[in-house]
Amino acid sequence: MRRAFKIGLVLVAAVLAATPLPRGRVEAIYSRGLYPALQPWLTAVSNVVPVALFDVVVVSVTAGVLLLWTMRLRGLRHRNGKVAAVGGLALDTAAIAAALYLWFLAAWGLNYQRQPLREQLDFNEQRVTRDALYSFATRNIDSLNALYRDAHAAGWPELADTGRVLQPAFVVAQHDLAMTWTAEPGLPKRTLFNFYFTRVAIEGLTDPFFLETLANQSMLPFERASTVAHEWSHLAGYADESEAIVIERFRDSQALLEHGEHVAALTEPIIATASVTGELLGELSPKLRAKMTGDNPQLFWLYKSM
Ligand SMILES: [Zn+2]
Repeated sequence: MRRAFKIGLVLVAAVLAATPLPRGRVEAIYSRGLYPALQPWLTAVSNVVPVALFDVVVVSVTAGVLLLWTMRLRGLRHRNGKVAAVGGLALDTAAIAAALYLWFLAAWGLNYQRQPLREQLDFNEQRVTRDALYSFATRNIDSLNALYRDAHAAGWPELADTGRVLQPAFVVAQHDLAMTWTAEPGLPKRTLFNFYFTRVAIEGLTDPFFLETLANQSMLPFERASTVAHEWSHLAGYADESEAIVIERFRDSQALLEHGEHVAALTEPIIATASVTGELLGELSPKLRAKMTGDNPQLFWLYKSM
């Protein structure tokens, strides 16, 4: 019976991993049904715990599996039927992996299979024209210049304050995306893997088991807001990386944050509309070129606080 249960668990996980689910159903039942019921309280509970629960999962599962193998293999020396014993051990390990995978899917991972954001919003690719991108870039340059002074005066928030600064903008962004619920923001927590994050340049991670926001504590000041906003997009149920980046940029906040957003948003249309052969930014329209010369735009000095 127990053996049948373990085999069943592995089979269910394998089938779910191999079979794409209908996106419309996932959107309706999970992303707009179960997940909005689960996320606010699971993140709220995780926020109260000072340590990263993600670390607890990783450390205890790793230690548990090592212990299981060590104890069972030690017992084997005196027994026959080694093949069957190792088979049982492999099944136990596969069942643990399957249980973790199912937990991942239920707590967050099914969001990977929801309807794409571009199908949910009033998005029309025909409107993304060269002219539209130029005027978008021009608007950004005007905003950059208008925000320059306030951005300098505000400075960068500390990591611990970043959440508080971003929260109003996070609520607005969710409302603008026509979300029918409001996600609970995660406190940017330190993880045991901070050293690894720093080594491989990971700024943040969303814990898919307890819906926590994990943040690299040695992030540079100007990375903090966009990283936390990015991980919060994941908490709001946008698992897809490009969609999380859309929401990370799609926030409206204090001058400093807006400024950072405009710097990033400005780069994209310029690169997208330029032929990047010859000069660094290719050929700009005369209007955009006029905006780019002289004292404009006054980019915020990113390394100011280093
Ligand atoms: Zn991400």
